Amino acid sequence: MPKYVYRFSEGDKDQKDLLGGKGANLAEMTRLGLPVPPGFTITTDACRAYLADGTVPDELAVQVTTALREVEEELGRELGAPEDPLLVSVRSGAKFSMPGMMETVLNIGLNDKSVLGLAEVSSDARFAWDSYRRLIQMFGKTVLDVDGDHFSERLDAKKAEHGVSLDYELDVDALKELVAEYKAVVLEHAGIEFPQDPRAQLDMATEAVFRSWNTERAHIYRRREKIPHDLGTAVNVCTMVFGNMGETSGTGVCFTRDPSSGRTGVYGDYLVNAQGEDVVAGIRNTLSLADLKTLDRTSYDELRSAMRRLETHYRDLCDIEFTIERGKLWLLQTRVGKRTAAAAFRVATQLVDEKLITMDEALTRVTGDQLTQLMFPQFEYTGDREVLTRAMPASPGAAVGHIAFDNAEAIARTEAGESVILVRRETNPDDLPGMVVAAGVLTARGGKTSHAAVVARGMGKTCVCGADQLEVDAAARTVRVAGREDLVLTSEDVIAIDGQTGEVFLGEVPVSDSPVMTYLRRGLEEALDVAGNVDTRELVTSVDRLMRHADKVRRLQVRANADTPDDARHAIHRGAEGVGLCRTEHMFLGKRKQLVQNLILASNEEERENALAALLPLQKGDFIQMFETMNGRPMTVRLIDPPLHEFLPDLTELSVKVALDRERGTLDPADEELLAVVRRSHEANPMLGLRGVRLLLTMPGLIELQVRAIAEAAVERLKAGGDPHPEIMIPLVGSVRELQIARERVEAVLRKVSGESGYKLDFPIGCMIELPRAAVSADTIAEEADFFSFGTNDLTQTTWGFSRDDVESVFFKEYLDYGVFGVSPFETVDERGVGRMVRLGVEHGRATKPDLKMGVCGEHGGDPESIDFFHRMGLSYVSCSPFRVPVARLEAGRSAIFYPESEEA
Ligand code: PEP
Ligand code: MG
Repeated sequence: MPKYVYRFSEGDKDQKDLLGGKGANLAEMTRLGLPVPPGFTITTDACRAYLADGTVPDELAVQVTTALREVEEELGRELGAPEDPLLVSVRSGAKFSMPGMMETVLNIGLNDKSVLGLAEVSSDARFAWDSYRRLIQMFGKTVLDVDGDHFSERLDAKKAEHGVSLDYELDVDALKELVAEYKAVVLEHAGIEFPQDPRAQLDMATEAVFRSWNTERAHIYRRREKIPHDLGTAVNVCTMVFGNMGETSGTGVCFTRDPSSGRTGVYGDYLVNAQGEDVVAGIRNTLSLADLKTLDRTSYDELRSAMRRLETHYRDLCDIEFTIERGKLWLLQTRVGKRTAAAAFRVATQLVDEKLITMDEALTRVTGDQLTQLMFPQFEYTGDREVLTRAMPASPGAAVGHIAFDNAEAIARTEAGESVILVRRETNPDDLPGMVVAAGVLTARGGKTSHAAVVARGMGKTCVCGADQLEVDAAARTVRVAGREDLVLTSEDVIAIDGQTGEVFLGEVPVSDSPVMTYLRRGLEEALDVAGNVDTRELVTSVDRLMRHADKVRRLQVRANADTPDDARHAIHRGAEGVGLCRTEHMFLGKRKQLVQNLILASNEEERENALAALLPLQKGDFIQMFETMNGRPMTVRLIDPPLHEFLPDLTELSVKVALDRERGTLDPADEELLAVVRRSHEANPMLGLRGVRLLLTMPGLIELQVRAIAEAAVERLKAGGDPHPEIMIPLVGSVRELQIARERVEAVLRKVSGESGYKLDFPIGCMIELPRAAVSADTIAEEADFFSFGTNDLTQTTWGFSRDDVESVFFKEYLDYGVFGVSPFETVDERGVGRMVRLGVEHGRATKPDLKMGVCGEHGGDPESIDFFHRMGLSYVSCSPFRVPVARLEAGRSAIFYPESEEA
């Protein structure tokens, strides 16, 4: 017979799967001898059996009887007996806490007879009848599905009838009337009498908790929190104790340290003569624990000793719910307490200093997401700020500045020392320079995965997007706000955007810098120098200690994706050990686009040579700067990747221009020629078209141009005493033959420049693994590669067979709702699909070359969960945006502790 019921004295804290979080912790407290009211837990197994069959398993009723009788014997009272009745609460408690999602029924055991008994033993008839009406209300709502409004309407009417405004001002007679009316509500809306049999109440409430696992809101919550749907919930049946039995009773919540700042010292709230729900409802002002000390020294001392005991036992900050019933302390719940990001870091190192945990454990107590939160500036709260609109919080932080409508304005004004917010209808790659200098970005269109959002997150720049209440007219340089005809914003106006909430404010809002960011940029000493108070100093010291420990234990190296010297510098300051991806396409854009067009349009060898010759010094200059910045550190340079058309004018725009010019007789033959080329190179699916290695192999001179620029730049640096370490990477390889040809051409140029300069240039040559064909044939590709870098962005697109730009804003929301993905596969690597491709690539690559160096440079390289996966795959490094480098360092350290044995060869 499966064991479905555990007395609190039978379980322990490690049985969360079976007993749920609350049940396991109640059992643990009971084992520790702490004052927990007697009770028992019905397991998640029972819930799962119920959900599978639609009926309560037969054995359950029998086991509940046994456990209940044991509790009754222990207390010398019986459930719902007419004299001195035992009352119980029935609460849900899943493995993971799901606040407010599932059901609770208190005061089970009360009926028309036992209410009299309770009145008698408590000498408080008002209390007894109030408890009974609460039971009928809660039971009616959660067990019998009666609309809660029916009860609140009766309650309001009763208060009005008796001329009182608060629930507890109703007297016994009023409460008796209310009980009768509530029973009538139940009969009318549920079609049955309110059950008088205490055991029937208990069984029905248990079943209701089981059912509540599958409500719509519980499903939505679990999807958002990534909690599996098949866990089920446990049910805790616990003897009722009452905090509302007069002035020597009360209820409270306490924490063993301050969960908001992380300060040492206990912290809590207490409410005299109240039940738990009154604390949450915030009707009356709560007292502090210090007040409790003066009110009831005995209970206070007992509580303090229980807090210390629990913190030592759990070796972490605990929160505790307690009730004092006529001077007797009871603990109703404990758990390792939720805390802010700052508190997480501080508490972790405090516990190390108190020798309760080791540094390794401390690292497991903080997360990359918490570090991210600490890296953004925040608005200081001021009451009088004017909200213009609310939109999508796309990238966190707080930014204030004048409105700038385009790159030129953003750049000019920041150079003049102003702070600006770049405000666009939407952004595209041309807006990059403006985004780089702006304090923040606000767009009227697009969601969390729009260009603005993705790029801003990568840069760590505050961004609010999809503010569709705003009408941005870049030509007229105005912003209008829907419903505010009086208001026309211009470049003269200052706005503030909050990347955590999506709020857009009109006017200045004060911002405070992130001390953690100061630390990451300028080191501990400077951060301590500017820290305003002890809290800040302790916080940055804790972050520093944990970061240094992560660096010590991690096996994954952390590199950055950086295309410019500025990015590279930022990355180094934040601890990057190299550049894992230098995209070179920007070296062909902007003013240079014309030179690329000359190359594409070249009709003979001479024209082509001229176009290439014009590009060479520019690109060489770029590489010299990058090598100088990265001196001594590796830098993976990826040869050009994007589709050809990105360097050409837009087909529609050019067609219109040519048509109009032709009509007017002003047609330039060069435009006509250009249009022909644009038409020829137009692709239906550019993402799957002429790009990457395909473009490199078919466009004469391109590889040679790029490799010569790299090689000559390296020579310059060597001559100047520098230490350049380029690694040349070929994108979008699918076949070993592609890599072989590319490699031969790269080597030929390196040999040539080597001969010309007298310097030895044997840079590693490798490729990206970003196509399924590359992953499955990685054994052959490895023959030609000195290294692999997994491009998980394209690998995600090509494994799923969808293009990010086309699908994210179109159907991802539905797919997340359907549970096709728990989280976007572009955010966290999809282990079962794309992850298997990575695994194949790793295994096949190593089969050919056991020491093949492998890293990842897709956006997943900065995502905490994905980093864990890459660690387990035994990769050598992750490469991510400079902003996320510290997060990657921390997460790589955590992974090394969680998985000391990775699959590294
Ligand atoms: C990738 O595909 O993962 C990658 C890094 O390349 P890009 O995002 O530039 O296509
Ligand atoms: Mg790619």
